[in-house]
Amino acid sequence: MRSYTKDMTDRYVVIGNPVGHSKSPWIHAEFARATGQDMDYGCLEPPLDGFAEAVDAFRASGGRGANVTLPFKQAAFRYCAELSARARAAEAVNTLVLDRSAAFGDNTDGVGLVRDLRTNLGCVLEGRRVLLLGAGGAAQGVVQPLLESGVALLVVVNRTAARARALAARFKGVRGGGYDLLEDGAFDLVVNATAAGLVGALPPIPPRVFARDALAYDMVYGCETPFLAFAREHRVRVSDGTGMLVEQAAESFLIWRGVRPRTDAVRDALRGG
Ligand code: NAP
Repeated sequence: MRSYTKDMTDRYVVIGNPVGHSKSPWIHAEFARATGQDMDYGCLEPPLDGFAEAVDAFRASGGRGANVTLPFKQAAFRYCAELSARARAAEAVNTLVLDRSAAFGDNTDGVGLVRDLRTNLGCVLEGRRVLLLGAGGAAQGVVQPLLESGVALLVVVNRTAARARALAARFKGVRGGGYDLLEDGAFDLVVNATAAGLVGALPPIPPRVFARDALAYDMVYGCETPFLAFAREHRVRVSDGTGMLVEQAAESFLIWRGVRPRTDAVRDALRGG
């Protein structure tokens, strides 16, 4: 039985482990302030084997929705009785809608990346050759949206080659494998969806992966990763993942509240601008 009553402030959380570093509470507080929405957004850190129980309890107490981050995106996918087409394609959920009879799961990572690339960075995707590094939850979420944006070629490589092969096999026309696939070929866009930057590591890519006028995009945000430094060294235009972080949050906010917040001021503030 839910304890939610209509006069309560609507409550949302980001669920992860660890979650203390998350910028989502600040981003959603800014969105709520700018759009005049009465909502509260906090953090939930269940034990690694306690995702479903934590969401059940939050939902029972009137929680209306959640973002899901590492390592629970696949657990969230299994939790939801209803899924959007993009969550189904990703086999991962980063946005939960809990105020329906059945929990609904969506994935906004891909649309967040594509919107950052197109709208904020002015990147043309149609007809472009794209290399995706990594095959974890973040990579899973962006394959279908990149394909839908009209790219000409999408290659996925990963340290554990079998994971990239399995991910690519789910989509028509996508090639997947280990870094040895990169023996030749240059790409207009190289997206680093690995967690390598968080431990100061550079995925083993040769400089020739960057075509002339390429963009190197690292999903990690808020720091200069070895991938970004490597691209800069080879005079390649770079972007970190701050814009994607803010755009995927805006899409979740739209799903929950029916209003799309502006993202520019929040993005600038996160970048210290
Ligand atoms: P994940 O599911 O744990 O996957 C991690 C991926 O990184 C795997 O493909 C893994 O390869 C690879 N990897 C880890 N360390 C590596 C290394 N030293 N060298 C090469 N590859 C390495 O994590 P995720 O959810 O996909 O997240 C990946 C990154 O994206 C994280 O840093 C996260 O913060 C970021 N992210 C950003 C946004 C945003 O909005 N900007 C959204 C989602 C995620 P193996 O399969 O071989 O282990």
